[in-house]
Amino acid sequence: MSRPPLLTLDEALPKLLASAQVLPQIESVSTFDADGRVLAQDVVSALQVPPQDNSSMDGYAVRSADCAQANAVLKVTQRIPAGTYGTTLHPGEAARIFTGAPIPDGADAVVMQEDCEALDDSQVSVKSTVSMGQWIRRSGEDVMRGAKVLQKGDRLTPAALGMAASVGLAQLEVVRRPRVALFSTGDELVMPGDISPDKMPAGAIYNSNRFFLRAMLQRLGCEVTDLGIPDQREATVDALQSAAQQHDLILTSGGVSVGEEDHIKPAVERLGSLNLWQLAIKPGKPFAYGYIQGSVQGSVQGSVQGSIQGGIQTAHAPCHFMGLPGNPVSSFVTFLLLVRPFLLALQGVKNTDIQRSQRVAHFDWPRADKRREFLRVKHNAQGGLDLFPNQSSGVLTSAVWGDGVVDNPADQTIQKGDTVQFISFAEWMA
Ligand code: AMP
Ligand code: MG
Repeated sequence: MSRPPLLTLDEALPKLLASAQVLPQIESVSTFDADGRVLAQDVVSALQVPPQDNSSMDGYAVRSADCAQANAVLKVTQRIPAGTYGTTLHPGEAARIFTGAPIPDGADAVVMQEDCEALDDSQVSVKSTVSMGQWIRRSGEDVMRGAKVLQKGDRLTPAALGMAASVGLAQLEVVRRPRVALFSTGDELVMPGDISPDKMPAGAIYNSNRFFLRAMLQRLGCEVTDLGIPDQREATVDALQSAAQQHDLILTSGGVSVGEEDHIKPAVERLGSLNLWQLAIKPGKPFAYGYIQGSVQGSVQGSVQGSIQGGIQTAHAPCHFMGLPGNPVSSFVTFLLLVRPFLLALQGVKNTDIQRSQRVAHFDWPRADKRREFLRVKHNAQGGLDLFPNQSSGVLTSAVWGDGVVDNPADQTIQKGDTVQFISFAEWMA
């Protein structure tokens, strides 16, 4: 019997993203607390930044025409620290001025104090000639009034928070956080802390996936409910059904391999629908995608996913379901390749692609694979990439050691010196 062809990542990802309707609920959060959240509205500036022409130096504001020759002597008639506003500067006058202070009317240049000599309290000699506009930051140089400084769908960074604050916004409208329920499957799994390493029964392993999946979900702005390991079939159906009422996504790890004895797959099939995909990627071939009916009938493709009235959720559409493979590196990589863009899309991020950049391989990869591979690598001091020697999907050390992966197309070998496509973990997990 021939096996169905593997699904490529480029086929699978659009299918997933097509069902990721942006969560319709918007909340207003303090700009202080909005790091990592996704804007639900454009941010348009109601003022110029900086608001007025101001000095970029400590020194003297002058009329440049007065300083056409070096060593001009001017009368110091005022002092303008930042936060104050001076009076009109007349011909032959200079104003002592400090960084950030507004340029007084009449002045058209600033001379830095190093180029001046104070003759006494009321006179200054300007040693150099002065060109019009020097050391002046112009009003609106950063932001013009009416400019769109941040866009709906932007994921807020620390710099973006500073920008929102610089145009006067203490609150920002963001899409609500996705709610994700996390299950681990596998009778071999033990929680760290429950049994000490020296008492581990034969065949048992610690549940490591639960820790990195939860951390990655949190970094993506999700509210995570960690539901542990479901056991009996009926208990699994109940657990999934109740999780589906309150979550946008149920995420599981383990139990998606073909022929696996596991309660989750039949339970999802009973409560909704499930597709078992075999992806042409390595690590991470098996992946399950489906949905579970929530309390209200509808389809995942439906436009409205429920509404919040007075903070109470009055309706809930079907809950998405994704099952990751159990092998730790497979789980890790498939999360980043598929779940991450999906969760960003739920929050309204438009471009969910991760940046790839070119690097030079300082290693050989002589055996091509039918599947597209994601090889764990690390930068070396020469600016090239070294390969972690063990690329097995169970070896989590590779992900700890590495600073990213090489995205290597199917059927492709790599020779030392070849240009490869690199994805940085720092960006991928930001
Ligand atoms: P599975 O996908 O359930 O067939 O699991 C594949 C491999 O990953 C097996 O060796 C499991 O023991 C291991 N595994 C499954 N779940 C986890 C987990 N949460 N943490 C660590 N290893 C796991
Ligand atoms: Mg298992």
